[in-house]
Amino acid sequence: MSGPSPEGPARTRYDASRDEVADALQGEPAYRIDQVWNALYHQRRPLDSISNVPAALRRRLEAQFPLALRESTVQHSADGATTKWLWELDDGARIESVLMHYEDRTTVCVSTQAGCAMACGFCATGQAGFERQLSAGEIVEQVLRA
Ligand code: SF4
Repeated sequence: MSGPSPEGPARTRYDASRDEVADALQGEPAYRIDQVWNALYHQRRPLDSISNVPAALRRRLEAQFPLALRESTVQHSADGATTKWLWELDDGARIESVLMHYEDRTTVCVSTQAGCAMACGFCATGQAGFERQLSAGEIVEQVLRA
């Protein structure tokens, strides 16, 4: 992940507003904003796969808007219906998200905090305590990458 830069810390990819993405695309044709925004939110594609955007621009956007979640482990249930991710965040916090397929629906369970303040005695997360709230982008990214 990118650390603080002279322009300030990088915005994580899904914390960036459409206006911030548009600012990053100044000097580009206006249709680039829709191309990038649609790839991120409608097609759920990694930036490096948007082949209708020049490669150099893709690389610049990737650096300017880094992903927030680093995949640590992925586990699949024996029947393949459930997948659980352990993600590591830029500050070392670790969170989980779970994707569950049912006959009539699919559900994704996301973390909204790192750690937990409830301190239930049987739970390792609770024993480790509360770390921080997640940003909106950190939560959205769990959904879009599930
Ligand atoms: S301590 Fe663990 S079991 Fe208790 S509420 Fe928090 S996450 Fe859930």
